[in-house]
Amino acid sequence: MAKRTLLYPGSFDPPTLGHYDIVKRGLKLADRVIVGVHGGSLSKRHWFSPEERIDLFESYFSPEESAKIELCVYDGLTADLAIEKEAQGILRGLRTASDFEFEFSMAAMNKHLAPGVETIFIRTDENLAHISSSLSKDVLRYRSVPGMVSELVANKIRERLEELGS
Ligand code: ADP
Repeated sequence: MAKRTLLYPGSFDPPTLGHYDIVKRGLKLADRVIVGVHGGSLSKRHWFSPEERIDLFESYFSPEESAKIELCVYDGLTADLAIEKEAQGILRGLRTASDFEFEFSMAAMNKHLAPGVETIFIRTDENLAHISSSLSKDVLRYRSVPGMVSELVANKIRERLEELGS
């Protein structure tokens, strides 16, 4: 039987426990999840290179999970990556009503670009709804708070803050 593949695209700068939760739940729906780390656009400045973001995301997975996950860097359109990887669906997480508005248009555009690919939304876990990469970076600047990112990722954020001199 053909393998079910979901593509989970995002910036993941850096990956949080919220992102990890979406991958775990995606694995309940598919045989394989491909994490597509978007290289970047002119409008977004990233703290971590795409390769660093891949390594950090990988550090969340158990060996059993890793066996079903592929990570790659891409530039360009998510819909084109979905076609190239023969994914049946694009996986996205929803936290807030404002996420929904953006995601709704994005899903419509991806359907236009790749009619055979469905967008699957997973609602955030209640306990993780407030977690984002940018807020984690903001908070860890001032306080060591667990439960947003892994300890390894928190350390990388602190290292980067020191390098940036802030
Ligand atoms: P993008 O720049 O593509 O929005 P992000 O790294 O911010 O990239 O997010 C990637 C995906 O993960 C998006 O679908 C986003 O809604 C989802 N996501 C981010 N944080 C959470 C969270 N705490 N719970 C559930 N989904 C989340």
